[in-house]
Amino acid sequence: MSENAATTRQLTKRYGDRVAVDAVSMTVRRGEVYGFLGPNGAGKTTTLRMLLGLVRPTSGAASILGRPAGRPHPPGTVGALIEGPGFFPYLSGRANLRTLARHRGFGDAEVERVLDRVDLTERGDDRFKGYSLGMKQRLGVAAALMGDPELIVLDEPTNGLDPAGMADMRALIVDLSRDGQTVLLSSHLLAEVQQICDRVGVINDGRLLRESTVAEMRGGVSLRVRATPVE
Ligand code: ATP
Repeated sequence: MSENAATTRQLTKRYGDRVAVDAVSMTVRRGEVYGFLGPNGAGKTTTLRMLLGLVRPTSGAASILGRPAGRPHPPGTVGALIEGPGFFPYLSGRANLRTLARHRGFGDAEVERVLDRVDLTERGDDRFKGYSLGMKQRLGVAAALMGDPELIVLDEPTNGLDPAGMADMRALIVDLSRDGQTVLLSSHLLAEVQQICDRVGVINDGRLLRESTVAEMRGGVSLRVRATPVE
């Protein structure tokens, strides 16, 4: 199996005259937390969507665990939280996951495993509608974790969360990583990436400006990303 969890090579997406993603070549290694850092509109979501095979590239290539993007991924390969998962507001968190699980061929035991993983077992019978945004996001991560995929892709998982929700989500990601999960997450927060990631790819205006370890990056980013204090 490939030693890289995900790669893109010269990955490009044009919308008319606009180049949303411009020849991005990045590598996510197995076992690491990779932070894809850039301001709003930089091209993060479009890159992740191409990697996951949800958007067709204009040119270039992407692969997950050596398998080209666009081909169906075998179970246990990749899970993603890339846009608000379509949960039913009047069903409980648990019932929502059970519905998804049935659709994906998993049983109730897997639902309980992922609920526990994101610390929602006790609140599992509450209606989704009543969850805080942080809990909704954690339920989305639980859905991504179903089937224990090698790689999880999280698009701005802390975006819009209050400080407690952000802290919980970051702790969850660190926890998953300690258990050997490979994580690719996007963020516009430099401090967040510095806190929880091993390596970082910095994107601005569709271009990957650099890719390095977080330690190498310290002090070296001139990008206008908000260095929000980390709680
Ligand atoms: P954000 O954090 O705001 O989601 P992002 O870094 O994820 O930003 P993208 O959503 O990938 O950025 O958008 C990159 C650029 O591509 C933006 O200028 C956006 O307007 C444009 N874009 C994205 N999707 C489309 C589309 N379907 N049609 C036209 N332009 C698009």
